[in-house]
Amino acid sequence: MQPDSLNLYDYSHPQLTNLLAEWGYSSYHARRIWDYLYQVQVSSVNEMADLRPDLCQKLASRAQLTPLATQTEARSSDGFTRKFLLELADGQTIETVLMKFKGRATACVSTQVGCAMGCVFCATGQMGFTRHLTPGEIVGQVLYIDRLLQEQGERLRNVVFMGMGEPLHNYDNTMTAVDILIDPKGLALAPKHITLSTVGLVPGILRLAEENRPIRLAVSLHGATDAERQRLVPPARRWPLAELMAACRTYTQKRNRHIFFEWTLIAGENDTPEQAHALGQLLQDVDSHVNLIPLNPTAGYTGEPTQRTAVKQFQAILNQYHIPSTVRQRRGIDIAAGCGQLKATQL
Ligand code: SAH
Ligand code: SF4
Repeated sequence: MQPDSLNLYDYSHPQLTNLLAEWGYSSYHARRIWDYLYQVQVSSVNEMADLRPDLCQKLASRAQLTPLATQTEARSSDGFTRKFLLELADGQTIETVLMKFKGRATACVSTQVGCAMGCVFCATGQMGFTRHLTPGEIVGQVLYIDRLLQEQGERLRNVVFMGMGEPLHNYDNTMTAVDILIDPKGLALAPKHITLSTVGLVPGILRLAEENRPIRLAVSLHGATDAERQRLVPPARRWPLAELMAACRTYTQKRNRHIFFEWTLIAGENDTPEQAHALGQLLQDVDSHVNLIPLNPTAGYTGEPTQRTAVKQFQAILNQYHIPSTVRQRRGIDIAAGCGQLKATQL
């Protein structure tokens, strides 16, 4: 892509209307372009056949629609997970995953190249931060997956912001991408089928509580005491549990919806009965659902995944507190489906 060229996928529908107005074109033209981008899903400006020739020329000279390029693809042996390392215009790479579960397709997308949060067990955290993704680079991943599915006569149903990066650290670009994905005249994904996962950035959670985007929120907890959480998740030093849980309560009350709490189970580290009881107590008055995910081992961390019986024990303690929980299958572990792990193998 030329350095000064526009990425049309960076613009929400109202933003595209403003851009076109600056160029002297009415909202009708913005609507036509929007249809080409998200209904027809063209892959070049030249395919926007019935636009006014002067507008077509302007777009051809100012904007590009190059789809993200596949650098590597890996498939899980069970065939349910396909993981892609995609190349951005500046040569950086990110991971995007297509998961199929009970016939439903989910895209797991990245929001940053790398991540600044430094969670010790996470391959992306071990890489450090390179840069934020633009809205268009986030939307581009969803279009990439949707196109693959359409080739098989299927459509995308769910999007999870659980790939590389911390979405609330890249708040504005992530939310513009959400607005594009849920636009009823665009991809029209149901907001309830979009889940944003955060390591627990309190200002971002509070901002989300104030805004009217009815997407789902997941908070990665991993520790139910400050001491335990700080060992695994560096931002826990900045926002202690009391502050984080207060923000979560504000969110559940204002938005009137529950929060998923993610818990990566690491043998002998955060899978003890003490931590399970502490978690039960912590979530007593929060509308919550806990997702337990046995660790995917990574090169930069010596921890091991919790074994099945210990997972069941942990879950049994949560049951005593009437806290619903699900053990998430480690789908596609054979293709390094944990966050950042495919990229880590390529470095
Ligand atoms: N930055 C956000 C979203 C991306 S990570 C967040 O941290 O929530 C998505 C989820 O994958 C998080 O719950 C994270 O803790 C988890 N995760 C990262 N590395 C993992 C690993 N090696 N094994 C299991 N879960 C992992
Ligand atoms: Fe970043 Fe999430 Fe990985 Fe932590 S778990 S380093 S916040 S991507």
